[in-house]
Amino acid sequence: MDTKKLLEIMKAISEKIEAEKDVLTELDSAIGDGDHGINMARGAKTVMEKLPSLIGKDSGAIFKGIGMAVVSSVGGASGPLYGTAFMKAGDALKGKMELSAEDFLAAFSASVAGIKMRGKSTIGEKTMLDALCPAERAMREAVEAKKTLKEALEAAAVAAEKGAERTKDLVATKGRASYLGERSLGHRDPGAVSSSFMLRAMADAM
Ligand code: ADP
Ligand code: MG
Ligand code: MG
Repeated sequence: MDTKKLLEIMKAISEKIEAEKDVLTELDSAIGDGDHGINMARGAKTVMEKLPSLIGKDSGAIFKGIGMAVVSSVGGASGPLYGTAFMKAGDALKGKMELSAEDFLAAFSASVAGIKMRGKSTIGEKTMLDALCPAERAMREAVEAKKTLKEALEAAAVAAEKGAERTKDLVATKGRASYLGERSLGHRDPGAVSSSFMLRAMADAM
């Protein structure tokens, strides 16, 4: 994948988030403070505005630029977490103008590790990680089986969608939803759903 395609994918993610912002806000209204859609849409708008300045840059600089735009514009828990994810991907892709499936996996793994570190969180706590960790596993399996980047992204998107759906059965122990304890059961985690939307947008745009 070249950097032109990467910028197209970033645009597709932003459009998907903007289109789904009401869904995200509704989910966050049930178990949080009802701003996840607003937070994410603000980030998407900032990223869209930033994209023209990233034309011609290498993949690392593109991810890093987007991560910085996200951190500076998105509040709440999700802003620093997603911002860290993009910046960690940027570190993993320094100087690369072409991305292989292996490169993409390395960047995605660095992103997930960055979220875990920044959020002091792990799988099973009803957060975005319950979509992202299964997605990382699925992407790894696809890459190890020598699948194409598109196939690997499709596998990751499907795993993220399943993971987000399964957050219904989890009790939140991190983030605002943890204040609800058992009452968070039966609801999907907003961040897990936004993660699944981003991976779906990437797979479809690939
Ligand atoms: P806030 O909760 O501050 O209003 P958002 O509503 O934008 O921020 O984001 C909430 C989402 O952030 C949650 O649905 C969850 O997926 C994610 N989240 C919160 N805390 C953590 C954490 N420690 N680790 C990973 N993800 C987290
Ligand atoms: Mg919120
Ligand atoms: Mg908030």
